[in-house]
Amino acid sequence: MRLHDDALLKHFSYINGSWHSSNTQLPVTNPASGEVIARVHNADVEQTELAVKSAKAAFADWSKTSANERAALMQKWYALMMQHQDDLAQILTAEQGKPLGEARGEIAYGAAFIQWFAEEAKRVYGDTIPAPSGDKRILVIKQPVGVVAAITPWNFPNAMISRKAAAALAAGCTFVVRPATQTPLSALAMAELAERAGIPAGVFNVVVGDDARGMGKVLTQHPDVAKFTFTGSTQVGRQLISQCAEGIKKVSMELGGNAPFIVFDDADIDAAVQGALDSKYRNAGQTCVCTNRIFVQNKVLEAFTEKFVKAVKALKVGDGMSEGTQIGPMISSQAAEQVQDLVIQSVAQGAKVVAGGTTPQRNFYQPTVLTQVRNDMPIACNEIFGPVSPIIAFENEADVLAMANDTEYGLAAYFYARDIGRIWRVAEGLEFGMVGINEGLISNAAAPFGGVKQSGNGREGSRYGLDDYLEIKYLCLGGINL
Ligand code: NAP
Repeated sequence: MRLHDDALLKHFSYINGSWHSSNTQLPVTNPASGEVIARVHNADVEQTELAVKSAKAAFADWSKTSANERAALMQKWYALMMQHQDDLAQILTAEQGKPLGEARGEIAYGAAFIQWFAEEAKRVYGDTIPAPSGDKRILVIKQPVGVVAAITPWNFPNAMISRKAAAALAAGCTFVVRPATQTPLSALAMAELAERAGIPAGVFNVVVGDDARGMGKVLTQHPDVAKFTFTGSTQVGRQLISQCAEGIKKVSMELGGNAPFIVFDDADIDAAVQGALDSKYRNAGQTCVCTNRIFVQNKVLEAFTEKFVKAVKALKVGDGMSEGTQIGPMISSQAAEQVQDLVIQSVAQGAKVVAGGTTPQRNFYQPTVLTQVRNDMPIACNEIFGPVSPIIAFENEADVLAMANDTEYGLAAYFYARDIGRIWRVAEGLEFGMVGINEGLISNAAAPFGGVKQSGNGREGSRYGLDDYLEIKYLCLGGINL
């Protein structure tokens, strides 16, 4: 890493506007090289409680600032993130592994939520409702929920935080996040820039520590936490929801996915190939909206597969810092081995490897394509979270909709078709929170991101994204006719 601004590389948790040390440290490792790039002080349960209490104290003033004041500070934060985009991207690639170009893209994507919600803060409108009797007036106002606690994953170390924090701060809430242990540096760099932007002490706090369970208990159960928001696996999300149940916390969850990508016989095949590459291989297949199963109609199966396999074989695997790398390392060697296990199990059940599929080299897994896959094979039933495309043939629309929906997940889905009747039928029939139609890249700050079924609840981004951080209060004004 060669940063223009070394002060962005922080090693301490950020609580109540100051940097907190502890007795032990956590190594942060570059997944491409295995090299330790930093040691971050390991915050504990008490420091997590301190962060929650600080956020509670800061809420008193922050919730009373005007939307304009909050927006102005957030715009400064956004501008600083964009000004330091290159440094932030280097930090991100060093700790997470994705190619530098993708990391730059994530910084812009993450910062865009801060800009979007800075603007949206000014549009938290209330309502007036005609009352059932003449001497009353009914009004609805919206108020910030209070302290928001968050736990985020390693796959988007910047954007998974900004998507939550931007909406929370815009609504007038204060915020405590525990980032994934593997990728704390991006979160701490965001805290440094929040401070430079003038965001008051206690409004945005970052606690880094390896006691996931202990810190998670504080963030889900502390009486001062009003709302808990999580991005991560469905398995951990389920457990955290149950922890929130005791205190009846408001909860939103962005969990796992198993995205179908359907190519109909009227699709533009070249566009579908590009869409499949975009939605599958970004971040080495480690995104929640990654294509997990490619369904291709029999008539175009050969044409699609031939072009797709050729494109996948041309993808360049390497260190994310190296020029031209398209597929970086996976987050760990265990993650690469888990993907390889799914491939081996599915091949044993009749799937055929037509690209990649070789034994992982440490954290690196070759982009892989499997054909002759069935929807009940391990590679299709599980969230792969790696660079493998299983191709499943289908005959008609009804069959493919049934197969696509045959999963506990409901995050993203994609399909390529040109017939307008088919487009409406399939878009409405897919049981997923987001559907890309002739498009493989669907995430942006203006759009509501989120899932149905066991992919979670709540939405991030868009004007709907503020709702999760606001309470509706009904005011009944009586005595008008006295
Ligand atoms: P994960 O294992 O669920 O971990 C996510 C976060 O939860 C990490 O910060 C982790 O901490 C923490 N955690 C784990 N166990 C915990 C516990 N018992 N109590 C409190 N916190 C706990 O998920 P992951 O492997 O990092 O991320 C991949 C998953 O995230 C995939 O399923 C993916 O689909 C999902 N995801 C969803 C979205 C979305 O928007 N829907 C976006 C991105 C990713 P440690 O780092 O210390 O383990």
